[in-house]
Amino acid sequence: MHLSRRNFVASALAAPVLVRFASLPALAKSDMPSGQVTPIYRTKAGDAVVTAVSDGYLELDVSLLSNISPEDAAALLHQAFRGKPPVTTGVNAFVVQMADRTALIDTGAAGAFPETGRLVDRLTAAGISPETVDDVLLTHLHPDHVGGLAANGQPNFPNAIVHVHRKERDYWTSEENKAAAPDGAKGMFDLASAAMTAYGDRVKPFDGPGEVVPGIAARELFGHTPGHCGYQIGEGEDGLLVWGDIVHVAPIQFPRPDVGISFDSEPEKAIATRKALLDEVARNRTRIAGMHIAFPSLGHVVEGTGDQAYDFVPSAWQYDLG
Ligand SMILES: [Zn+2]
Repeated sequence: MHLSRRNFVASALAAPVLVRFASLPALAKSDMPSGQVTPIYRTKAGDAVVTAVSDGYLELDVSLLSNISPEDAAALLHQAFRGKPPVTTGVNAFVVQMADRTALIDTGAAGAFPETGRLVDRLTAAGISPETVDDVLLTHLHPDHVGGLAANGQPNFPNAIVHVHRKERDYWTSEENKAAAPDGAKGMFDLASAAMTAYGDRVKPFDGPGEVVPGIAARELFGHTPGHCGYQIGEGEDGLLVWGDIVHVAPIQFPRPDVGISFDSEPEKAIATRKALLDEVARNRTRIAGMHIAFPSLGHVVEGTGDQAYDFVPSAWQYDLG
């Protein structure tokens, strides 16, 4: 209903609302809520309905960041009203429902980190059973993206085809690369390989940018990992670019895109890719979603003010998908 001054007065008179606050029972401390009701958020992108689902969150120590002192990092967090380090960063996944298929972009961390692994429960709460997922599109094969793909060697999405850039699949399933990696990183190779093995020949690596499934096109955004991709759904201002891990710590890397993170495979390339993409999406007014931006992570990048390179404008709550 469009409210004008005139009909607002009329409707207010027609339906007076009486609120008796005094009659509300007091909550015992043990009954106080400790978290959100299921974190799910829907939007449209082109003809698709995109559902953002939170898998949980990570607490990141600012010592993981490069090209910035802990003091400067703490100052940026303070400036953005984000408290003191460590910084909380989301782990998000996105369901894309189209007329002929349901796709899932990334699969969360499956409990590899303490406050993660909620994806399947929350998909189910959203009315999306894992059996109905036709395609899983992976931005890259780090544990917080591929962790929820399989459990104990069995696919969590038993009817899905898995799509991943060939460079990414080849990198993380290579025994030579695992042997050359530091001990602390070898587990990432094992986890990625196990997830790929669980799906066998239903893993369909793709080459180059372009349409991966009808309606979703891959963007090569290499640097964070060798085959890291984003996925574009729809076009223009109605579209959405799910950009994977272009940003890990929003209150720091939007103002300072030269700040990297220790998980970057190729740090300089990751920074160059981030800078180029931020410039592009700000110029083109492209709506973006990120795996590590505060839930539901949808919004626009704009040029920053002063010495801040960019800023992020979260999308307004969408009451109706229209
Ligand atoms: Zn990640």
